[in-house]
Amino acid sequence: QVIYLNGEYVSKENAKISVFDHGFLYGDGIFEGIRIYNGNIFKCKEHLDRLYDSAKSIMLDIPLSYTEMEQALIETIRRNEFRDGYIRLVVSRGPGNLGLDPTRCPKAWVIIIVEQLAIYSEEAYRDGLVSVSVVQRRNIPDALNPKIKSLNYLNNILVKIQANLAGVGEAIMLNAQGYVAEGSSDNIFIIKKGVVYTPPCYIGALEGITRAAIMELCDKLGYKLKEEPFTLHDVYVADEVFFTGTAAEVIAVREVDGRQIGAGKAGTITTHLLEEFRKIVDVDGVK
Ligand code: PMP
Repeated sequence: QVIYLNGEYVSKENAKISVFDHGFLYGDGIFEGIRIYNGNIFKCKEHLDRLYDSAKSIMLDIPLSYTEMEQALIETIRRNEFRDGYIRLVVSRGPGNLGLDPTRCPKAWVIIIVEQLAIYSEEAYRDGLVSVSVVQRRNIPDALNPKIKSLNYLNNILVKIQANLAGVGEAIMLNAQGYVAEGSSDNIFIIKKGVVYTPPCYIGALEGITRAAIMELCDKLGYKLKEEPFTLHDVYVADEVFFTGTAAEVIAVREVDGRQIGAGKAGTITTHLLEEFRKIVDVDGVK
């Protein structure tokens, strides 16, 4: 495994960061998770746009131009001889001193890791996941804007711990007002009477790239889509529920907080959207 570390390609054993790195000390940095399908970097532009927007928002200077970053991604994949897998792209504020002042960090660090992906089984896609809602609340803008894909994931990790304790694969987070926001690392959709709903991102959700792809597909396939706030009640009485994410793709949910969803397996629209999504994954991106 070859890892890109600040312009160099190093082995896994030699891919090391400083204990003074502010990504490590303070979670001061940003990241992207990107899929490679059949040698294609899926939605490469969308991921890089989100990365550079996150960087601008936290005043982090990425030391690579957009084109250089794209080339670094392509080269890292080439050196690892990957056709299918997952890319983790991290930009940290870099090494500084123990104070939190980012002006003491002269240069941001760029790390690209390409790996195989542990994905859900085909059975899980067919049967759907069991899920629960959790007490953690999605941070609302100002505190930790969910639009910034920052290295501060402690809240999401607490959600993941709750999911583990409940023995489920993904959990549902609400926002401070009690509206459904998203999962620990996935966006959420529900379907009722043929209409597809997803919370608007201002509720407290990352602007997921898979989410956007599914919204586009709904439009193309003629499913009515509404971006509007909804509650857990709406989830419980939905005909279908599914999560979307770079790793999860489109994964159905068959039970939430002990309530069976629809027929208790992946619904017809969810299955259709997953099928259509898989048709575009090695087309829509950078080869
Ligand atoms: N929400 C959160 C909090 C996430 O971390 C992710 C995955 N990175 C998502 C949603 C899904 O976004 P995407 O489809 O861009 O992977």
